[in-house]
Amino acid sequence: MRFSDETLRDIMARFRREMENGLGGDTNPTATVKMLPTFVRSIPDGSEKGDFIALDLGGSNFRILRVKVSHEKKQTVQMESQIYETPEDIIHGSGSRLFDHVAECLGDFMEKQKIKDKKLPVGFTFSFPCAHSKLDEAVLLTWTKRFKASGVEGMDVVKLLNKAIKKRGDYDADIMAVVNDTVGTMMTCGFDDQRCEVGIIIGTGTNACYMEELRHIDMVEGDEGRMCINTEWGAFGDDGTLEDIRTEFDREIDRGSLNPGKQLFEKMVSGMYMGELVRLILVKMAKEGLLFEGRITPELLTKGKFETKHVSAIENKEGLTKAKEILTRLGVEPSEDDCIAVQHVCAIVSFRSANLIAATLGAILTRLKDNKNSPRLRTTVGIDGSLYKMHPQYSRRLHKTVRRLVPESDVRFLLSESGSGKGAAMVTAWASRLADQTRQ
Ligand code: BGC
Ligand code: MG
Repeated sequence: MRFSDETLRDIMARFRREMENGLGGDTNPTATVKMLPTFVRSIPDGSEKGDFIALDLGGSNFRILRVKVSHEKKQTVQMESQIYETPEDIIHGSGSRLFDHVAECLGDFMEKQKIKDKKLPVGFTFSFPCAHSKLDEAVLLTWTKRFKASGVEGMDVVKLLNKAIKKRGDYDADIMAVVNDTVGTMMTCGFDDQRCEVGIIIGTGTNACYMEELRHIDMVEGDEGRMCINTEWGAFGDDGTLEDIRTEFDREIDRGSLNPGKQLFEKMVSGMYMGELVRLILVKMAKEGLLFEGRITPELLTKGKFETKHVSAIENKEGLTKAKEILTRLGVEPSEDDCIAVQHVCAIVSFRSANLIAATLGAILTRLKDNKNSPRLRTTVGIDGSLYKMHPQYSRRLHKTVRRLVPESDVRFLLSESGSGKGAAMVTAWASRLADQTRQ
């Protein structure tokens, strides 16, 4: 799980090729990394304004936001939001029930905001791979992470949501745009820093988007300007490209997952799987008598009992005390040495994640640099996601490795606070202005 810089540079080169495959007309149909056009053509320019609703579905929380963007001297954003539950029976049930639930929560939110009689423009942050032919049409290609509702794959989620809203008949909504959470994050950071042209999520799942030259995107007509590409880098390795670095633990995670054989890169790095990876390693070490004097408890053997937030806690300042607490709860009666060893395992797994992301991000950065035809790249990367935000060492390690792998870059990393929702509002502002212009 520990890679030399040479290996990381090799992974970077592999991902660079995957990006090219996804962009090319001949190679796109069979490409593993899909490089999906988003129909978002620019970052915010500071002139956006209005009153919007944003739905944010697919991250660690389902959130509904009201975003007011105003212009008094300078642009300001005012946000109110509410988190809604997404119980497992709903995300694993039928698609129509899932969208009924979303429509119900939206109705509740509008009621509380006293705007049920208004028809505000809605931006939908939907954090799954979608094919777009325009901004307000998004066909779900495949569920990822914890979601697996039936009858949604292959369908336009805007249509499904509109249908659920119509069926209720108690309010109206105008869904103007569907954006991936990476795009929302890039747009939010772009609001504060015009140089932002990459968006990354390292949370439950992982993904990145960036601004690509339209002339390089074979799947979209036109040669002028740029368009944001949703890379869907979580699927990197699904064709076997990463077999040499996948371990027995990665294979076991995949076998027990909702989507075996898919999102293999995501399963090596993201928050949904990290705790479980550590647990599998601990089980093996205990079985070999290398930990807990060989004690194996039913808790230690239970899937999900060791969580990613535990990895973060154990790598924090009081980490050894935390390790003792967490392992004691698993009933393994850890010694001092056990705690040190477990802390070491956590560091190896989380470091691997940061290193792998540094390699794929490095590929995007060198591509941006080549597109600009300049010897150095000065850019800003917008980032969000629970793992990146909560893990005490993650961001520092990631930044350091990126700077080492791409020394010809000056990268600013910008954390986006509740970014995906605000970003969706930005895109919606832009889309509704465009709609007004066409109407006039
Ligand atoms: C999805 C992406 C999303 C990422 C982060 C992945 O599983 O495929 O669309 O951006 O998770 O939420
Ligand atoms: Mg999110």
